Amino acid sequence: MTDDQLLRYSRHILLDEVGIEGQERILASHALIIGAGGLGSPAALFLGSAGVGHITLVDNDVVDLTNLQRQIAHTTARVGQPKVVSAAQAITAINPEVQVTALQARADAALLDTLVPQATVVLDCSDNYATRHAVNAACVRHGKPLVAGAVIRFDGQITVVDPRDAASPCYACVFPPDAAFEEVQCSTMGVFAPLVGVVGAMQAAEALKWVSGAGPSLAGRLLMLDGRAMEWNTMHLKRHPDCPVCSAAK
Ligand SMILES: [Zn+2]
Repeated sequence: MTDDQLLRYSRHILLDEVGIEGQERILASHALIIGAGGLGSPAALFLGSAGVGHITLVDNDVVDLTNLQRQIAHTTARVGQPKVVSAAQAITAINPEVQVTALQARADAALLDTLVPQATVVLDCSDNYATRHAVNAACVRHGKPLVAGAVIRFDGQITVVDPRDAASPCYACVFPPDAAFEEVQCSTMGVFAPLVGVVGAMQAAEALKWVSGAGPSLAGRLLMLDGRAMEWNTMHLKRHPDCPVCSAAK
């Protein structure tokens, strides 16, 4: 590490759980972030500020005025720009050392099969079940850790899928792909702005813990936040023996 890097990352290096070795692992890591919206914004900014060496952002949308209430990587001046380009600018403004790959695309299975194997850790910051299941399946296929977050209205949730652990459930063990979950979108249901910050920052925390080796992960637990009462609930998760995604892969 250079003298400037020792200063920039000094407050991480001071942590026993991270230290020089953990920070070097962060600098050498590659995070794949699916979605550059409410969750992807804080996740990308914290991974960038913390020095993740390479961040790949995937999102098909452009910045819209209705995004700015909560998608903190974007600005009024960047309305109309691709979200991945806007978020890349925000990361670079904080930390020009980070290599950012901005892909304006939909995260389908083919693209994920190209991107997931290159990543150290994958963050699902998307806003729909189809993408969540595609990202989960790709992470299981390629044995990559997944940090999955979701927020709607005043409710948030986060979990980690650890494909290296045979006992660890995948996202589809908990939310079966064929189940008729009601798809709820921010555009119709609303979303309380700071909750995407809370959950997105936690996704960054789990990703940084994973790549640096600081602390055990959230794998096997689903944390659910009720933002009205401001209460967390923990659900302990088990692998589903007949899960269509991870039982076939093992
Ligand atoms: Zn599964």
